[in-house]
Amino acid sequence: MLKVRLEVMLRSEEQSELNSETVPAGTARTTESLRVVLDAALDAVIAMDESGIIREWNLQAEALFGWTRQEAIGRTVADTVVPPRARDHHLRGLRRFRETGDAPILGKRLTLDARDKSGREIPIELRVTALRLPDGLRFIAFINDLTVMRGLEREQRNVVAQIDAQRQLFATILSNAPAGIALISSHDFTIEFANPAFHALSPGRTLQGRPALDAWSEIAHQLEPLYRRALGGETIHLVDERFRMHPPTDGALEDHWFTFTMVPIRREGPAIDAILVVAVETTDQVRARSQVAELASLARQRAAELRGIIDHMADAVFVCDQNGRLTLVNAAGAALIGFDHTRVRDLTLTDLAARELTDHGRERQVHELALSRALRGESVVVRDVIVRRAYDGAERWVRSSAAAIRDDSGAVLGAVEVARDVTDAERLERLKREFVRAAAHELNTPVTVVTGYAQVLARQLQGVPASSREMLEGLHRGVERMETIVRALTYVTRIELGELALARERLRFDELVDRVVTRMTRRPVGITVRVARLDAAMIDADRDGIEQTVRNLLSNAIRYSKPGSSVEVSLAVAAAAAAGRSGAAPGGGQDAVLSVRDWGAGIPKERQARIFERFYRAHTDTAYDFEGLGVGLYISHEIVTRLGGRMWFESVEGKGSMFHVAFPIAPSGAA
Ligand code: ADP
Repeated sequence: MLKVRLEVMLRSEEQSELNSETVPAGTARTTESLRVVLDAALDAVIAMDESGIIREWNLQAEALFGWTRQEAIGRTVADTVVPPRARDHHLRGLRRFRETGDAPILGKRLTLDARDKSGREIPIELRVTALRLPDGLRFIAFINDLTVMRGLEREQRNVVAQIDAQRQLFATILSNAPAGIALISSHDFTIEFANPAFHALSPGRTLQGRPALDAWSEIAHQLEPLYRRALGGETIHLVDERFRMHPPTDGALEDHWFTFTMVPIRREGPAIDAILVVAVETTDQVRARSQVAELASLARQRAAELRGIIDHMADAVFVCDQNGRLTLVNAAGAALIGFDHTRVRDLTLTDLAARELTDHGRERQVHELALSRALRGESVVVRDVIVRRAYDGAERWVRSSAAAIRDDSGAVLGAVEVARDVTDAERLERLKREFVRAAAHELNTPVTVVTGYAQVLARQLQGVPASSREMLEGLHRGVERMETIVRALTYVTRIELGELALARERLRFDELVDRVVTRMTRRPVGITVRVARLDAAMIDADRDGIEQTVRNLLSNAIRYSKPGSSVEVSLAVAAAAAAGRSGAAPGGGQDAVLSVRDWGAGIPKERQARIFERFYRAHTDTAYDFEGLGVGLYISHEIVTRLGGRMWFESVEGKGSMFHVAFPIAPSGAA
């Protein structure tokens, strides 16, 4: 109220020209009532004369600037409320006014900084008016403290800045969100907003501001009912929903899958007026899943096929994991060990071990099993075992091989064993051996008888016609050949049946060799047999066995020689090391080495490795395919090695061969 009156009063003053009107000659009463008015004013009011001296200072001025009225009046405005940096400006203004009467400050609202008694600066709003009093001109300043206002302004600016930052953050999130986000308004389903990810869901289309059912016309029939449900207040969440959409460039409709949520939104007022859509395309995942499913079903099919094949295999198949649990046993396997086919999945290697017998009839240790060895990384090539069937205890002969199953890095995942029931074959083999033994035995007697008679007859040949003599010699050769075969078969069956008994008697190796050579060359053989060297040598060995061996080597050398060529026999006593034998040998480390050399067919290099195998013949179907059983070297090798000797050879195809047999000289037997 008071302020209004004051304003009215001052405004009327302002409107008058500065020097046109003056306040009537001052009375003390006027000045006094003016002071009351000033003190009641809400603004700080300061009156200043032309020279810048403070003439009036109300209560608000006291409160604002800290100077009391008494202190302030008489001081200059410049020293009291103007901050030092603004003092020059203030003084210049005063001077200009005094010189030109020009006061641009008048009637304006200015915001500037003032200074209180303590030197603190205060933001203020200032309005200055002029008043001519009897004792001179007064500038009256009305001052508003802006401190609070400034604080409020600052706060407001902060709030605005915060809101702005949040808006920016929100915009950044929206535009970088990996999911499509869009706002569809209830009016016409217009797309009001779509973030970049949403645009990317259907590239090449204009979305912003367009009715959604237009923008996606080909799937409008799917979208519309969803929008309507959302606008009805329902939140819709659909996973891997299929839409048939046009590609960006024209073309046939393609399948796309989306997972999305539609949320009803109220922006203004209580009614739902928009739908927030958050969507991601899941086409790749859906395709990948269906591919995985296809592969899985293919894998299942393959596994079933494989399983079928394995199940129908005649051979038994056992597969175990790295912990020794059986993971697969086929029908033949189950039949072999005699377990119920459905039960075998619970089996472990321990159960298998309980079924396997060693040659001595004891049960196998788990670690001895082929599968256990394969798990340790060994490759078990062929192994013969006896398996006892679970339900009837019947024993079967089994031949098996096993190997580790490894992953790409070579780590062992499990093992597989393939086993064949060879019981029948084994039985047949035994029968065969028994038969050959019986036949050889049975033949032995008649052959000996015929040989004896033939020899006797040969000695009484006087007066016998030449043709009969030839027939008799043919008979003799045939019988000798039969004797050789019978002897060989007897040896073979004995070796096979584990019945080869070899004696160890001390004998003169040189004499034995000499005797055999003499006997074999009694009748002309078309080849010159020369004994090149014959060192006296005493060995411990089986006489028959050694004779058989020497006979075999000599007969081979003669048979595989070229007609007219020669065969050289030598027996040399040599240091064991020179003969290539390692380790200390009795008899001062000396060997008696028999060498039989020919310049005949030789043995092709690639066939040399098998030359000591039973029934192996290196010259089958060649010009050198002479009669023979392929057992001579096998028998000789068995005899020599079982007696502790060694046998080896050198041979060059087409050039000839040299076979060697070495025995340690018997202790104190060196002649
Ligand atoms: P065979 O009765 O067939 O001679 P062996 O066991 O004595 O049976 O010999 C096996 C094979 O070794 C022979 O078939 C032959 O091919 C080869 N062989 C043995 N000795 C000689 C040799 N001195 N020269 C060339 N080949 C030989």
